[in-house]
Amino acid sequence: MHWHAGDVALIRYRRLGPITYLISSHVVDDRPELTRLYTGPGHPMKRRIRTDGTFLPRDIPYAEAYAMPVVLGDIAWQTNHLLRLIRPGDAHDISLFWSDDWSFRGWYVNLQDPVTRNAVGFDSADHVLDIWVAPDGTWNWKDEDEFTDAVAVGRFTTRQADEIRREGERVIARIEAGGWPFDAGYETWRPDPAWTAPEMPANWDIGNTP
Ligand code: MG
Repeated sequence: MHWHAGDVALIRYRRLGPITYLISSHVVDDRPELTRLYTGPGHPMKRRIRTDGTFLPRDIPYAEAYAMPVVLGDIAWQTNHLLRLIRPGDAHDISLFWSDDWSFRGWYVNLQDPVTRNAVGFDSADHVLDIWVAPDGTWNWKDEDEFTDAVAVGRFTTRQADEIRREGERVIARIEAGGWPFDAGYETWRPDPAWTAPEMPANWDIGNTP
């Protein structure tokens, strides 16, 4: 499956099977070594909600949220512009974030399974732990508490958790060395102005195992 500029593709996150989060994007380009996806305000997405249709509060204990049945609710991506960089085989992707007015906010390193391709885009599984990189190159781990909880409830083994953290440390070495993509100049990239918020593809749940 190869994607063309302007196609609508999804990245879907699955947790031991079921989709728990997905976000639509326009394909910027799709080359063997690198895929770039753009998401902006209004792009449709789906994320976990409670069975009564209300959103999960952010402060809910991790073990409780983890045990809840998975129901997906429709929302739209809100304020930021996001350029997602995916390399095959990497256990992370990296997204550039800009505000509404295109002021650059930084890079988000999402630790995750290497993506697989399918008829609607890309699937992965989130590794909970993330890294935020400010425009000046200073960085910090994100969601370390949640990561500890995820190991406690058995989402990751201790060994998997060690490997996830090591992957993060390899990216941190690149951040500190000013390596790719922190040296790539993508901060000045802008999307095709003809791209407006797309419809959610009708077959968004292909292969899902709820
Ligand atoms: Mg994450």
